[in-house]
Amino acid sequence: MKTQTPPQRIGIVGAGIAGLATAVRLARRGHEVEVFESNPYPGGKLSQFELDGYRFDAGPSLFTMPQYIDDLFRLAGEEPGGKFEYHRLPVVCHYFWEDGTRLNAHGDKAAFGKEVEETLGVPAQRIQQALDDSARKYELTGRIFLEKSLHKLHTWTNWKVVKAMLKIPGLDLFTNMNKVNERHLQHPKLVQLFNRFATYNGSNPYKAPGLLSIIPHFEHQIGAYFPKGGMNAITQAVYKLAQRQGVQFHFNQPVERIHVEQGRAAGLQVNGDTHAFDRVVSNMDVFFTYKKLLPGQAHPQRTLKQQKSTSALIFYWGIKRSFPELGLHNILFSEDYRREFADLEAGKIFQDPTVYINITKKYEPSDAPEGHENWFTMINVPYDDGQDWDSLIDWARERVIEKIDRTLGVDVRPLITCEDILDPRLIQSRTHSHLGSLYGTSSNNRTAAFMRHANFSSRIKDLYFCGGSVHPGGGIPLCMLSAKIVDEIMHEQ
Ligand SMILES: Cc1cc2nc3c(=O)[nH]c(=O)nc-3n(C[C@H](O)[C@H](O)[C@H](O)COP(=O)(O)OP(=O)(O)OC[C@H]3O[C@@H](n4cnc5c(N)ncnc54)[C@H](O)[C@@H]3O)c2cc1C
Repeated sequence: MKTQTPPQRIGIVGAGIAGLATAVRLARRGHEVEVFESNPYPGGKLSQFELDGYRFDAGPSLFTMPQYIDDLFRLAGEEPGGKFEYHRLPVVCHYFWEDGTRLNAHGDKAAFGKEVEETLGVPAQRIQQALDDSARKYELTGRIFLEKSLHKLHTWTNWKVVKAMLKIPGLDLFTNMNKVNERHLQHPKLVQLFNRFATYNGSNPYKAPGLLSIIPHFEHQIGAYFPKGGMNAITQAVYKLAQRQGVQFHFNQPVERIHVEQGRAAGLQVNGDTHAFDRVVSNMDVFFTYKKLLPGQAHPQRTLKQQKSTSALIFYWGIKRSFPELGLHNILFSEDYRREFADLEAGKIFQDPTVYINITKKYEPSDAPEGHENWFTMINVPYDDGQDWDSLIDWARERVIEKIDRTLGVDVRPLITCEDILDPRLIQSRTHSHLGSLYGTSSNNRTAAFMRHANFSSRIKDLYFCGGSVHPGGGIPLCMLSAKIVDEIMHEQ
């Protein structure tokens, strides 16, 4: 579909997944699109690196809603097959507790229910009820609150919105996720398992509104997937698609300013040179877009002061052994989940952290040498508030190793052949994410969705925003939706 309006010159700041998706959408309308990226590679957080013969996805590891990538291909008149492939995971996640309980969360609902019955003695029906509730909330609210701008009047005058508003009492907006999960699941381990979904947008299940119990619907009903080649294949697929659409990329080119002339975004300053554009889209964290690229302009202070989501500490380890009991996604649960989140809120790391291990070698044999595995070992940590990260990392590394040893009954330390580390400071310096938060602002209160920055500027004409720091939020699927919303509002009459 070509635009009705004459083609325009559009400059995009940043080649994160949202910037790439926006570039594809705007180019296929016939616009002339240029993307400026500080790093020498595309993808931002969604990138990869190699270390001593092991390949690691640097950031995201869980892939849901693959249809949003397929949609981009089809929009551009291509079929994804052969260029971007993925398969649904039979087991979404392997869960471990220190008392020896192990539970495989099957992608198939009936098999998941059966496993829960056999392992925990909980009727399968409870899983069914929790997932049905999740699906119902998603159907009622997902398309409105995630797929549309919340900052345009026509979103609110749509009859579907009115219908959803009438159902507000049943959406669990006024209770928290933990209470919703206790109501449905009534077993501490299952409640903990479902509470973990709050971390998918960096929130605290004991505070985040119960409406976030829609998240398991994405993973357990729409499905969790693995892209052939690993997560970085998503970036590569969208980047190459953008190139085929004629998008021009400039790597190692940090944008220094967004030029504003007579109240509208008129261009970008890069390396001291001015590039004139008709419209500008920022995929840079909205906080730094204002602070660094728009220093002389009025800033939406309340929006920029919102509490940040949590960050992550990752140990990328080459491991010289195979662990058949582990799968692609593995969780080793903390013994005290409530305290773990209380510590995160207080800017600390809990001494018994929940450890997540991602091993792409399980599906991509070339990601580690024969008989070895590539462990992406992650814990949730607070955003950077000036903590002494060097000491904290040393301390946390010991806690993580102890946790793995206790839970899996191994001595993991001598198995580590090489190591790299990612912490909140590096997340900020590599992708300009304010304070190293993974998902922009936190969703710990019920107004959070409305407080996130809009996908356009209400003060500066022709300036738009996409990516995890703005509406509808962080995570690959929502970043893809932010690109769709930018495209729609740019072209609405
Ligand atoms: C450790 C980790 C684990 C995660 N796990 C998951 C997961 O399992 N599943 C999931 O869906 N999501 C996950 N996420 C979140 C997900 O990665 C992000 O929400 C998403 O990738 C953000 O994409 P983005 O387009 O907003 O921006 P980013 O990836 O942050 O990219 C922004 C880009 O803009 C560039 N840039 C910034 N400023 C400038 C400038 N001035 N000039 C030029 N370029 C600039 C940066 O260099 C960067 O490349 C995870 C994130 C991390 C860090």
